[in-house]
Amino acid sequence: MAQQEDVFKKIVSHAKEYGFVFQSSEIYDGLAAVYDYGQNGVELKNNIKRYWWDAMTLLHENIVGIDSAIFMHPTIWKASGHVDAFNDPLIDNRDSKKRYRADVLIEDAIAKIDDKIETEVAKAKKRFGESFDEALYRQTNPRVVEHQKHRDELHQRYSDAMNANDLNELKQIILDEEIVCPISGTRNWTDVRQFNLMFKTEMGSTADGSMTVYLRPETAQGIFVNYLNVQKTGRMRIPFGIAQIGKAFRNEIVARQFIFRMREFEQMEMQFFVRPGEELKWFEEWKKTRLKWHKALGLGDEKYRYHDHEKLAHYANAATDIEFEMPFGFKEVEGIHSRTNFDLSQHEKFSGKKIQYFDPELNESYTPYVIETSIGVDRMFLSVLCSSYEEQTLEGGDSRVVLHLPAALAPVKCAVMPLVKKDGLPDKAREIVNDLKFDFATHYDEKDSIGKRYRRQDAIGTPYCITVDHQTLEDDTVTLRERDSMQQTRVKIADLHKLIHDNVSINSLLRKL
Ligand code: ATP
Repeated sequence: MAQQEDVFKKIVSHAKEYGFVFQSSEIYDGLAAVYDYGQNGVELKNNIKRYWWDAMTLLHENIVGIDSAIFMHPTIWKASGHVDAFNDPLIDNRDSKKRYRADVLIEDAIAKIDDKIETEVAKAKKRFGESFDEALYRQTNPRVVEHQKHRDELHQRYSDAMNANDLNELKQIILDEEIVCPISGTRNWTDVRQFNLMFKTEMGSTADGSMTVYLRPETAQGIFVNYLNVQKTGRMRIPFGIAQIGKAFRNEIVARQFIFRMREFEQMEMQFFVRPGEELKWFEEWKKTRLKWHKALGLGDEKYRYHDHEKLAHYANAATDIEFEMPFGFKEVEGIHSRTNFDLSQHEKFSGKKIQYFDPELNESYTPYVIETSIGVDRMFLSVLCSSYEEQTLEGGDSRVVLHLPAALAPVKCAVMPLVKKDGLPDKAREIVNDLKFDFATHYDEKDSIGKRYRRQDAIGTPYCITVDHQTLEDDTVTLRERDSMQQTRVKIADLHKLIHDNVSINSLLRKL
């Protein structure tokens, strides 16, 4: 674990050093849980968004996109339940003055018990070797059985308290489990209180009377309130979907783990409107479709798993997360929710406008049910970055840091390098750049030794380096170096475009879906 934390630290500093992610307002000592994307980060992020957008809108003829405003009428958040229920339970430690999420403290305690069990099992495995019967050991070893019993009881108590919204019980669990503040080491806890995660601001001048508006905590509501506009103007027939990419804001109590939990982040959400009664079939369908989208990136199938929700949000009748194995464990990257007709019905009620669909096949009107797929761009970015990072030792004792980014997502697709800065090689290299730049993000680099230049491109995940040498001037061939294998092949300049395009286009990913 400690080793994994080290790797994570290195990834965070690599992200800064190579212009992927910067702390927001860094020269003013930063703003907690807010980040900026640098010159390479923005390209990677745009490519992730493009992959998602095209997979939704190009590959499904019944999905269209919108771009709704961040500010919306405040009653929308009353209708959606966010004003009353978008809360996290918070608790303060009186000695350290640090604030925590009560649910996270308890979940961490459960994870610690899990760790104890796994350590016992791992030790026994080592001791008994080949003859080890793990299932039997888990059922019979007194220490493991005791830990497991404790874990199950604690888990049950915790999920009952969460489902009943019982804040006193959450505090009692923290006291009974003797959970201490990691900073002060004490159990001097305040009561647990609900904390609303929405940011508020004022709209309009105070002289005229201003109105409190919220920064949206999810993009989904912008889709729901435009449902009728899109359905009518696009003459959409159920089932159909509306996709949107945009910023969302949550005043997270504890913001940790770099861009995993931010206060300003970006979501890619799609609401799919279906007939009542067909929602669970579509829920299963979208679970599969979305996992396939993730796996097509080739980051490793074993890094994904589904996690079904035990506590369902106020609007949902089924919910699953797609989790990805980050250096700090399996974590949610995307949520797939069956939201019933909750949101549209609520907007119908609060706005007084009829939001119904007339189904010509059934010859009846109804409020559509909704399956939502909701993925965080930043978490997706983090999963791609973490799984791509590798420190490699090469033959001859040399080493390099390489980002094995999926080529279609890489910020720079190819770098063109004259072997030396003379003899007309730079001009020839520029010629190649001037041809390729219309289709690919292309870098020109003539500084330092060729080895150093390769390393720089490896560190930002550039799939191809093209080197122009003296032979190029004679026969119009160059060497094409592939990032992962570092293999160099001699190819014709005229063939470069096709060779690169086939591997780096978003199209090449979409064709796998
Ligand atoms: P968590 O349990 O981690 O707080 P959530 O269940 O509240 O997440 P959803 O409301 O389902 O998250 O939001 C959908 C997606 O938006 C998440 O899967 C995640 O990728 C992203 N997301 C949510 N909150 C944040 C955040 N604070 N920072 C970055 N991404 C976020």
